[in-house]
Amino acid sequence: MKIGALKESYEGEARVAITPSSAAHLQKLGHEVFVESGAGARAGFMDSDYEKAGVTVEKTAADLIRAVDVVAKVRQPSDAEIGQMREGQTLISFFYPAQNAELLEKAKEQGITAIAMDMVPRISRAQKMDALSSMANIAGYRSVIEAANNFGRFFTGQVTAAGKVPPAKVLVVGAGVAGLAAIGTATSLGAQVFAFDVRPEVAEQIESMGAEFVFLDFEEQAQDGAATGGYAAPSSPEFREKQLEKFRELAPDMDVVITTALIPGRDAPVLWTRDMVEAMKQGSVIVDLAAEKGGNCELTVADERIVTENGVTIIGYTDFASRMGAQASELYGNNIRHFMGDLTPKKDGVIVHDMEDDVIRGATVAHDHDVTFPPPPPKVA
Ligand code: NAD
Repeated sequence: MKIGALKESYEGEARVAITPSSAAHLQKLGHEVFVESGAGARAGFMDSDYEKAGVTVEKTAADLIRAVDVVAKVRQPSDAEIGQMREGQTLISFFYPAQNAELLEKAKEQGITAIAMDMVPRISRAQKMDALSSMANIAGYRSVIEAANNFGRFFTGQVTAAGKVPPAKVLVVGAGVAGLAAIGTATSLGAQVFAFDVRPEVAEQIESMGAEFVFLDFEEQAQDGAATGGYAAPSSPEFREKQLEKFRELAPDMDVVITTALIPGRDAPVLWTRDMVEAMKQGSVIVDLAAEKGGNCELTVADERIVTENGVTIIGYTDFASRMGAQASELYGNNIRHFMGDLTPKKDGVIVHDMEDDVIRGATVAHDHDVTFPPPPPKVA
C-alpha cells in the first residue's frame, strides 16, 4: 500500500507523522512511502532527507492525498483535508472522537477508515503504539525545561565560594506519564521534588525516582484513586478540601509547581487556586500541563505565559510536544509505524483491517461507512 504524511496545517505545529527513519520501517512492511513537500521541515527533516530514504515527495497536500491509500497526520484533519479524501482511504492521526462528532460523521459519510492514535487501548501489547504516552513523556520533560528557563535560580543546591545555594523545591501535581517524566527531569537537575496524586499506588514510583510523596491525612485516599482501571476518578468534596488545604500549606515554600492532573473525559480539576498563587514567592514558576482542558491553576491562560502582580510566572502552553518537534516526530513516527505493523501482519504491503483485534478495533473510530466509536472494552489486559 501507499502511505504518506501531510504537512501539518495547524499553525505552529512542528511535528510530522513520518520521519526518514520511520519511513524505512514502513518500507520493510512492504509499503511505499510519500510525504508532502516541507512536511518535516519544522522538525528538521528536509525533503532531501526523505528522498535519500526512498520516500517520494509530493508537491501539495492534494497531490499527496491523491497518491496514497493511507494518510498519516499528527493533528486531526481540517475540514479541507478530510474533504479531499476519498472512499476506501485510511486516515491515521490523533482524532479525539468524543470531542469531534462532526469530523467523525464526515469520515463515515465519505467512507473513510479513521484510526485515532488517541484511542489506542492502554494494554501492554499496545505500549509501542501509545502516542498519548509518548507525547505526555515529552510534555513532562519539557515542562521542567520551560520552568527552569523561567526560574532565575539554579535547580540544584550548591555550596560555592560566592555563597550557599539551596536546591529549588518543585511540586508535581499528578503523577501519570507526564508527571513522572517531570519528576525524573526535575530530580536529575538536582531539585528537591515533591509529588502528589489521587492514586496512592503511585507513591512507590514517585519515591523510587527520588521524590517525596505528599500524603494527605485522609483515610479514604485509597478509595479516591484507582476507581476506573488505573485512571483517576473525580475526588469527593471532602477529599478535594483536604488536598487544597495541603497545597495551601505548601504554596509559600515551593519554587516551581508543575500540574498535570487530568481525569479522562472531563475538564481539568482546579487545584491551584488564586490565593495559592498569591502566597507563592516572587520568581516562582507554575507550568500547567492541563491548560488545554481548562487548567489545574485558576489563573492559567491557555497558550500564554503570564506574570502575576506578585511576580509568579504561569505557563499555559498547550504545545509542549511540538516544542520538541524532532524528538516528538521520532517517537510519534515510531508509534505510527508500529500500528502499521499490526495492520500489515504478513509484511507484504497488504493491510488487513482486523476488527477482531483489540488494538485495531479500539483505535478505529470510523470504518465501512459506519461510526465505530466508542469501541467495546478490550478483551485482554
Ligand atoms: P492522565 O493524563 O489521565 O492524568 C494525569 C494524572 O493526574 C494521573 O496520574 C491522575 O491520577 C492524576 N490526577 C487526577 N486527578 C487528580 C487530582 N485531583 N489531584 C492529583 N492528581 C490527579 O494520566 P496518564 O498519564 O494518562 O496515566 C493514567 C493511568 O494510565 C496511569 O495508571 C498509567 O500508569 C496508566 N497507563 C497505562 C499504560 C499502558 O498500560 N499501556 C500507558 C499509559 C498510562
